[in-house]
Amino acid sequence: TVRWGLIGASTIARQFMINAIRAQGDGEVVAVMSSSPERANTYAGENGIPRGVSTLADLLSAGVDAVYISTTNELHLEQALAAIEAGKHVLCEKPLALTSADARKMVAAANAAGVVLGTNHHLRNAGAHRAMREAIAAGRIGKPIAARVFHSVYLPESLQGWRISKPEAGGGVVLDITVHDADTLRFVLGDDPVEISAFTQSAGMAGGGLEDGAMCIWRFKSGVMAQSHEGFTTKFAGTGFEVHGSEGSLFATNVMTQKPVGSVLLRTGAGEEELSFDREDLYARSLRQFHAAIRGEGRPSATGEDGVWSLAAAEAALQSAKSGKAVTIDPKL
Ligand code: NDP
Repeated sequence: TVRWGLIGASTIARQFMINAIRAQGDGEVVAVMSSSPERANTYAGENGIPRGVSTLADLLSAGVDAVYISTTNELHLEQALAAIEAGKHVLCEKPLALTSADARKMVAAANAAGVVLGTNHHLRNAGAHRAMREAIAAGRIGKPIAARVFHSVYLPESLQGWRISKPEAGGGVVLDITVHDADTLRFVLGDDPVEISAFTQSAGMAGGGLEDGAMCIWRFKSGVMAQSHEGFTTKFAGTGFEVHGSEGSLFATNVMTQKPVGSVLLRTGAGEEELSFDREDLYARSLRQFHAAIRGEGRPSATGEDGVWSLAAAEAALQSAKSGKAVTIDPKL
């Protein structure tokens, strides 16, 4: 059995991760930590968790093997380092930290301690994205030339808090969504980005100098170019992911999402084909891979290093938007 402690009484844990842990035959949630004792107890009660605690020390001594960190972003670093120090495996939400330098500290600490560190980039676990990656790797679109990611959504009212008002908590759409696009592009293309150019906007939702929309242009090692659009303010946009190659194109619709939904169409000289893919819950698959990694079988679906990559890309996008210049992406791994 893997005994999990939740650091953060969050929406994402309530909506997806508690169920994903319990979906594993060998997963159990034994305690939750909130900065407020009342919220810890209420959250524990509402979610059938045996203990609610309000300090990290209490959580780490509650008999847990692994922790899932889903507090606001400025807290991830300190909490992850403390958990690693206590010998716990860590599955941390994205962005791993506020800077890629801090994220590298988490990776180094986990490697030194011999514990598993994963980044909860759920989209790698989507059947749709895995089907696209496999089709590209199998040469079905020939040589990849360009990709387009449509990931501008409407931030639900219940989440219109720190993300649109608190720069110090790592708010803004780039740290929230561009990191996912960075990771998904790397995963689907099997390639790493080297340079990014970005514009950002505040379209009326975000305050405090934060951006609620971003458009990025990416260059990858192989020469592939990509464009991505991330946003909080577009109610009716829909999401998608396209990759265009010399012999074919992939069109994925409604796939930049938390649910195992959407479709993937392959268009080539031979005509059109809907690719079939598995519909396993994304977060349950992430947990399954993480449990296997704890047993020494393979690695988490997105590692700590992958989290450094996505954050280095997001950082470069923010720097580009500020400077008006293209910026090199270097995770320094
Ligand atoms: P929430 O806003 O739901 O929770 C974040 C923190 O806010 C909690 O840890 C909690 O603090 C505090 N909080 C929650 N409710 C209240 C309240 N009523 N009053 C005061 N404070 C409250 O965050 P999300 O679940 O949206 O995001 C958490 C993390 O997960 C972020 O890092 C985010 O980037 C990531 N995320 C990842 C997703 C993915 O699919 N990979 C999807 C969504 C989020 P405390 O713990 O102290 O009680």
